[in-house]
Amino acid sequence: MNRDQMINAVNQNSKTYDFIIIGGGATGLGTAIEAVSRGYSTLLLEQADFTKATSSRSTKLVHGGVRYLAQGNISLVFEALKERGLLKNNAPHLVTKQAFIIPSYKWWIKPYYTLGLTIYDLMSLRLSIGRSKPFSKEKTLKSIPTLKLKNLRGGVVYYDGQFDDARLGINLCQTFVEKGGIALNYAKVINLIKENNKVKGVVFTDLETGKEMHIKAKGVINATGVFIDNIIKMDTPSTKKMICASQGVHLVIDKKFIPNQHAIMIPKTTDGRVLFAVPWHNKVIVGTTDVVKENSELEPKALEEEIDFILETAGRFLEKKPQRSDIKSVFAGLRPLAAPKEGKQKTKEISRGHKILISNSGLLTITGGKWTTYRKMGEDAINKMCKLLHFKQKRSTTQHLKIHGYKKQVNFKNPLYFYGSDLKKLQQLAENEHLDTYLSRSLHIIKAQVVWGVRFEMARTVEDILARRTRALFLDAKESVRIAPEVAKLMASELNKDAFWEQKQVNEFKEIAKNYILN
Ligand SMILES: Cc1cc2nc3c(=O)[nH]c(=O)nc-3n(C[C@H](O)[C@H](O)[C@H](O)COP(=O)(O)OP(=O)(O)OC[C@H]3O[C@@H](n4cnc5c(N)ncnc54)[C@H](O)[C@@H]3O)c2cc1C
Repeated sequence: MNRDQMINAVNQNSKTYDFIIIGGGATGLGTAIEAVSRGYSTLLLEQADFTKATSSRSTKLVHGGVRYLAQGNISLVFEALKERGLLKNNAPHLVTKQAFIIPSYKWWIKPYYTLGLTIYDLMSLRLSIGRSKPFSKEKTLKSIPTLKLKNLRGGVVYYDGQFDDARLGINLCQTFVEKGGIALNYAKVINLIKENNKVKGVVFTDLETGKEMHIKAKGVINATGVFIDNIIKMDTPSTKKMICASQGVHLVIDKKFIPNQHAIMIPKTTDGRVLFAVPWHNKVIVGTTDVVKENSELEPKALEEEIDFILETAGRFLEKKPQRSDIKSVFAGLRPLAAPKEGKQKTKEISRGHKILISNSGLLTITGGKWTTYRKMGEDAINKMCKLLHFKQKRSTTQHLKIHGYKKQVNFKNPLYFYGSDLKKLQQLAENEHLDTYLSRSLHIIKAQVVWGVRFEMARTVEDILARRTRALFLDAKESVRIAPEVAKLMASELNKDAFWEQKQVNEFKEIAKNYILN
């Protein structure tokens, strides 16, 4: 995960890769691991930082999708439940079992959801992580003492997985590199190379130096989420729009609103969606929304009505309503939903399953799906590409591939648990180099994490450290701004940068953080 080494490797050899993957989100990373683990030489290019876009802005659930079951999308739920189980086995340091409670304020809620969720459990077959059951009023309140009391009849408990999306992204990238892949962040694809009307490589700009590079590959895969249309247009300018972006917003509030480990699931909000309130890194994430967005951008901004809607809906189920002043961070992500065929369908009705499209010139585009199914998406993409390129079919080996950081006995009470098998080495670094002091006591961030992020996780900017190597920006945006200057200083020393770089980094981070802070 050393960027200088990676860029030198790309610079120095003029080889033709088997695959170039464009996009370092969940889909690109899953596809890259799938390719490299089958022995194909693979280059992954990300225009910003790994998981900078949608893949760091999810609800952090590894789930089958209870909602899709209600919509009758059985095959999607089967697939996601299987992937949930595989991911929990392959990254036990990041994926935890999360209990959810559907509070019941009407007589029919308990029997209805107990039945539905039992079907959901049974669909996970051998990979089940816990049985749903009805809870009495007392048990429900013991699990979530902050629930609104009036008319509460009890609840239904069920289980799904929970994870840290950006941390999983980094660990996937490390897994990819350990298997021989080359990954670059801040490498933006600006054009495709074509020979005899076939896509045979890409032109990318190294955004750190401005240098343009022309790299060849037998196959090019477009895994750029809500940006896929830009790459498709480089291939076939006249192609119709494939993507319809829908924004989802989350609010992060204090743990006191849901003080225990159980999460809340509201199965039907006034706009017909589900709302989650889930404990995460000692805070609570509440969301989400579904608003169609015209433009795809790297830093989408939450709308006032989305914030109000989440506060209002959460407030209807809690004794003490969360207020604007309780919000520690607000973040928005764009769902790369496949554009509907007939113009009038609403985004929430469009299938959440993934889609693969191969152009006449051999560009493979993969979109849709969800974090939970990233591995299966990668498997499907590489299978299709191998067939197209007449590669000898090799079997996928990723179903049981341990992800970097894999560790079985994890102490989740340790705030640094998410480093998994790296934790010991991080602690050694902290001790040996006197980096064990806190940058943020409330967020449990120590100095060693910054140095570790630069040395071993390809962090290049203050934002990389505060948004994705640690989750400070998402957990408490004001606190992340407070510690930004010290982060910049530590990074400057590691990366051999000057005071001007340090100041620029802090300014740029403050600008981004404005989107996450409510005034
Ligand atoms: C609000 C919300 C909540 C969600 N919650 C969940 C959940 O709880 N569980 C779950 O399983 N799924 C969830 N999802 C879905 C999941 O997050 C997405 O399906 C997944 O992250 C999409 O990954 P991706 O790699 O396709 O896209 P992205 O993460 O957007 O990655 C695409 C990448 O391509 C890069 N790129 C674009 N153009 C170029 C270029 N020219 N050159 C190089 N790189 C480029 C971008 O910078 C970006 O990093 C949620 C989604 C949203 C929006």
